[in-house]
Amino acid sequence: MSQPGIPAFGSTLTSLQAQNGAASASGSPYTNGPIQNALMSSQGYNSQLPGSYPHLIPAKTLNPVSGQSNYGGPQTVSPLSSYQGPGQTLHRPPVASTPVTSSLHSGPVPRMPQHTSHNSAAIPMPSGSFHPGANIPPPLNWQYNYPSAGSQTNDCPNVSSGPTMSGNTNLTSHQYVSSGDPSLQNNFIKSGAPLGPLPTGGPPPVRALTAQKSSHRTVPQPSFNSAINQEGITSSTNNGSLVVHNNYDEIEGGGFLATPQLTNKNPTISRSVGYSYPSLPPGYQNTTPPSTTGMPPSSLSYPSGPQAFSQMPLGANHLTASMSGLSLHPEGLRVINLLQERNMLPSTPLQPPVPNLHEDIQRLNCNPELFRCTLTSIPQTQALLNKAKLPLGLLLHPFKDLVQLPVVTSSTIVRCRSCRTYINPFVSFLDQRRWKCNLCYQVNDVPEEFMYNPLTRAYGEPHRRPEVQNATIEFMAPSEYMLRPPQPPVYLFVFDVSHNAVETGYLTSVCQSLLDNLDLLPGNTRTKIGFITFDSTIHFYSLQEGLSQPQMLIVSDIEDVFIPMPENLLVNLNESKELVQDLLKTLPQMFTKTLETQSALGPALQAAFKLMSPTGGRMSVFQTQLPTLGVGALKPREEPNQRSSAKEIHLMPSTDFYKKLALDCSGQQVAVDLFLLSGQYSDLASLGCISRYSAGSVYYYPSYHHQHNPVQVQKLQKELQRYLTRKIGFEAVMRIRCTKGLSIHTFHGNFFVRSTDLLSLPNVNPDAGYAVQMSVEENLMDTQLVSFQSALLYTSSKGERRIRVHTLCLPVVSTLNEVFLGADVQAISGLLANMAVDRSVTASLSDARDALVNAVIDSLSAYRSSVLSNHQPGLMVPFSLRLFPLFVLALLKQKSFQTGTNARLDERIFAMCQVKNQPLVHLMLTTHPNLYRVDNLSDEGALNINDRTIPQPPILQLSVEKLSRDGAFLMDAGSVLMLWVGKNCGQHFFSQVLGVQSYALIPQTMTDLPELDTPESARTVAFICWLREQRPFFPVLYVIRDESPMKANFLQNMVEDRTESALSYYEFLLHIQQQVNK
Ligand SMILES: [Zn+2]
Repeated sequence: MSQPGIPAFGSTLTSLQAQNGAASASGSPYTNGPIQNALMSSQGYNSQLPGSYPHLIPAKTLNPVSGQSNYGGPQTVSPLSSYQGPGQTLHRPPVASTPVTSSLHSGPVPRMPQHTSHNSAAIPMPSGSFHPGANIPPPLNWQYNYPSAGSQTNDCPNVSSGPTMSGNTNLTSHQYVSSGDPSLQNNFIKSGAPLGPLPTGGPPPVRALTAQKSSHRTVPQPSFNSAINQEGITSSTNNGSLVVHNNYDEIEGGGFLATPQLTNKNPTISRSVGYSYPSLPPGYQNTTPPSTTGMPPSSLSYPSGPQAFSQMPLGANHLTASMSGLSLHPEGLRVINLLQERNMLPSTPLQPPVPNLHEDIQRLNCNPELFRCTLTSIPQTQALLNKAKLPLGLLLHPFKDLVQLPVVTSSTIVRCRSCRTYINPFVSFLDQRRWKCNLCYQVNDVPEEFMYNPLTRAYGEPHRRPEVQNATIEFMAPSEYMLRPPQPPVYLFVFDVSHNAVETGYLTSVCQSLLDNLDLLPGNTRTKIGFITFDSTIHFYSLQEGLSQPQMLIVSDIEDVFIPMPENLLVNLNESKELVQDLLKTLPQMFTKTLETQSALGPALQAAFKLMSPTGGRMSVFQTQLPTLGVGALKPREEPNQRSSAKEIHLMPSTDFYKKLALDCSGQQVAVDLFLLSGQYSDLASLGCISRYSAGSVYYYPSYHHQHNPVQVQKLQKELQRYLTRKIGFEAVMRIRCTKGLSIHTFHGNFFVRSTDLLSLPNVNPDAGYAVQMSVEENLMDTQLVSFQSALLYTSSKGERRIRVHTLCLPVVSTLNEVFLGADVQAISGLLANMAVDRSVTASLSDARDALVNAVIDSLSAYRSSVLSNHQPGLMVPFSLRLFPLFVLALLKQKSFQTGTNARLDERIFAMCQVKNQPLVHLMLTTHPNLYRVDNLSDEGALNINDRTIPQPPILQLSVEKLSRDGAFLMDAGSVLMLWVGKNCGQHFFSQVLGVQSYALIPQTMTDLPELDTPESARTVAFICWLREQRPFFPVLYVIRDESPMKANFLQNMVEDRTESALSYYEFLLHIQQQVNK
């Protein structure tokens, strides 16, 4: 997004005019115009002339968010109604609102002083192009810092001083006590034996709540806080309120705070938070992280002898299988005329290019699935980069599940004393005692402890330590990497229970999934859980251990939400498990007769935020409609007849409420995941901000209904299973460093940029991807190698502070040809997609589309004019970019950027969210699906995994020319699998795979394959299972006949063919050629 005050770059715009009729150019080897077999005669496919790509729309700027919000003011509370058990309608007594003269919620609230930054695209780009020309973007002044003065208090009602809930007889028994003891900072302590409101006619509370019960389990030792004080990370008590400055910048950047001295002063620090820091020799663990469960990792002993880890990721066997030096291979040097060589799509998954490095270096390099660069050969100067007209950036999947991950427990984490880079395989040792940083070239001393190599048990081998042998490694972080004791895992679920929500029946599925996976939630004995439901009012559930059943508390004043008895609402999962299970079993029935149609989502989110503020954690919000009440209420904006237009569609949020709240959440280490289950327009453009800026995720189930849409029910269940049990990191920050001379300027993904380059990630999950853009600020003449390092500091669900570090090393080149040879077309397409989403929002969709097209034209023009010596006719491309036009065309046809379709606005927005938040591998599959013929699967070339034989059919081009009526074809489009069955497909396939006797007997809606006792069935089922296992979401399978409504979707993904509103691949190539050869 543009920053005010920075003028947009002007540029000439090349608009893509459809070259109709060009496809029939004589002598062309292509016949992509009229389709010869008549398969595709209906349902959205016709031979209408494609429309033109409209011109740009002036760029818009986003106003900076003021960041002001106020939760202060008098509070009212309604009497607490009783929870009456399963199957009964709720009785809500009349509200007797009583003002609470509370200072609890009216005090100053910490807010980011100026939210002037946005997640990405802070650099205004010229319209219609992603290239800022020769202008290097000015350094940005994004800052997210708390004022240093102690004028703020955390919004932590539970530690403010004195009982303050006077005026409400129900609540006066609650004493909110703060002793002023800083050790209580994360807890709410009640004195005496306050009783929750009694359920009418219900059983009395069984036991009084004691301070010990609710606090000591999670309370840090006081010494830790003194450590914080000593570190100068200000933490002081002020009238019982604790001031903690969230200066994570110092922490990740740091360890600079003279730790040894600190430790000497206060030897109890480390012990007090449950760590021990062994002195020589350090212990090493080789931990296998859990893939999908919260099971404790099993420790393996580190193999002796120096040995590079092969970080074989889950389910990606063929991706790591071949890493042959593409750029060194003669094939890689080939120049290709795309107008002559039609079939450039490899029949096996496309491999990332291998950097042109000495094999000893490349052997240690980071796995491209975790960390890759758009250019595997880095241009020496910005001028050279500008010349290439290719985007320079990184794509990261930093928290991916790994089968093997070396974990280091050491008292000393060796980092550059100048730039704080972690020691890595690409540093150089000047001698045994000194190493030179590969990012800033500072010469550092090798600490005494590092001289010992635990692998060989030898002294004097610092270069053989695991830190120097692994590009991906995880450190157990000592206390100086903490601002506060590691937080407990906290999970809060917020459910829409309005009439609309009850109609969908989603609560049954979600509660059942939660019941099934309750013991698998990542966590430990400190895990906390809580529930809020809402319609026009907000309902809390007291789950305090000892109650005989959950108590429901209703707050009906949504104008000024407050939290009744906060200490009983987020409870220890182990202690209150029965109550939690009780609630989950009851919840689906509790609202079945509700007539309440309103949705007070905004107030419910505010309540949830307040409840979680003291600890941080994960908030999972389930919403089924447009919010209609209170703050954050939204109005319908989608106009059905404008769906097809590329202009004037509402991609911008209509309110900044969700963004502001997300930033508040981020500041308190709360991430919000949004599950939207709605058949109607719900303004995801606005709602999605709550997840985007708090580092959450968005899940979308359009038209979810428990009876009418069983496929969605299955999808939700499978995805919840993954969601609830996957690994999670709390209170995380990530920083990406690069070699001096390179500069990172724009970030893509779900997070908040806290201080120029520190990403705030209240939660981090293994399914999230990130991208960054870079520029060359100073020339790199003096170096042959550059490195990039990402460091992710997080708290594990076991309460350990850990740092996961990935380091990538790439060569520097001085010629344009080398830059092109090293281009990574998938990474380039992925980064362009991210940039195009930003452009769509800040300017317009048509502008973004133009920019995508121009990215191809500009780079291929540069190649033609600056690299090729003889200008032959045709469209000449370097081998590395042979798929560039195809992938960009696929992006233009992707749901995010397509025009002329009836794509609903929320679906488009969701597709854009996915572009921003998915790892590259999934983004590419969504953009350019894989097509396989599956009626003749064989074991030839099959994979063998755990005694399973998985066929590997060749990947086909996405054109109906590849289909035939006597076959069956599976399209893997990432989040959906479509199996198109031809009419004349052999009887064999019908009976042996589909389990029906003829084509006519294939059910109209078939979303599952039977597991038959035939080799054909076994192969097909194994292949589909294997495809599904490789992704964190659950692709639904549709079996499609000619009459199926899904056929249009299937054809929509035939990227190489012409559609109603988009060019065929060949037409697109002709257009590119015409522009390039101008
Ligand atoms: Zn350095």
